[in-house]
Amino acid sequence: MKQKKLVVGNWKRPTIKETEILAKKIKEKFSSFIDADVVVCPNNLSILEVSKILEESPVKVGAQNAYWEEKNPCTGETPPSMLLEANCRYVILGHHERRHVFKEDDEMVKNKLLSVLRVRDIVPIICIGETLDELKSGRRDYVLLEQIQHILSDVQLNFNQKIVVNYSPIWAIGTGNVINPKEAEEAAQVIKINLREVFGYDLVNSNFKVIYGGSINSENVHDFVVQENIDGVLVGGASVDADELYKIASLMSK
Ligand code: PEP
Repeated sequence: MKQKKLVVGNWKRPTIKETEILAKKIKEKFSSFIDADVVVCPNNLSILEVSKILEESPVKVGAQNAYWEEKNPCTGETPPSMLLEANCRYVILGHHERRHVFKEDDEMVKNKLLSVLRVRDIVPIICIGETLDELKSGRRDYVLLEQIQHILSDVQLNFNQKIVVNYSPIWAIGTGNVINPKEAEEAAQVIKINLREVFGYDLVNSNFKVIYGGSINSENVHDFVVQENIDGVLVGGASVDADELYKIASLMSK
């Protein structure tokens, strides 16, 4: 059976109060929505409140980061088990901003992934993507494969565990520089072929999604989700407007 497409809203900017208002609007708008899987990822300070607001909603709650250790706590970090306790069902790992600002590398992202997989019931959204220089010098596919192979190197999947790979070209995040959908499709295909080589065709079809992120809005999303290997989108700026997020999600099955 074909999986539903996925829309992930990365809510980076709203304050606690704004997030609460936004979550209430989302609850109302999406009350009977079934055309796609929808996830919103607020700041950690808002996760409990948003989880409560969306308790009966088809929209799931995710986090923007997780720590890689359960047993050895680290000041200021949140382990996956605590995210699960707060009803998080998804978590973004290795977002470009975390790699860039906090120097997270593929080894850290891999350890975060393993720690998320150990608690089960949370779907990791692993972010990979190339810089503009890497793209211009023709190294995009090499960079993507190096990232994905490192991050997934120690993963042993059971049949229930889902994994999302988010392809976000670094130069397209939050810039309004939209990549040609055909190029996003090419990159998604490279990622899927590699996943199939490692995990097998059936498991990739049932357990993996490859999504695209970077300056997506309701005007351009259709051209991306009609591509064969793009199973959804990660949306930053446009996702903090409930009407816009609804429009984007509604275009997933068109
Ligand atoms: C993001 O924050 O992950 C993102 C994709 O942002 P935007 O949609 O604004 O480019």
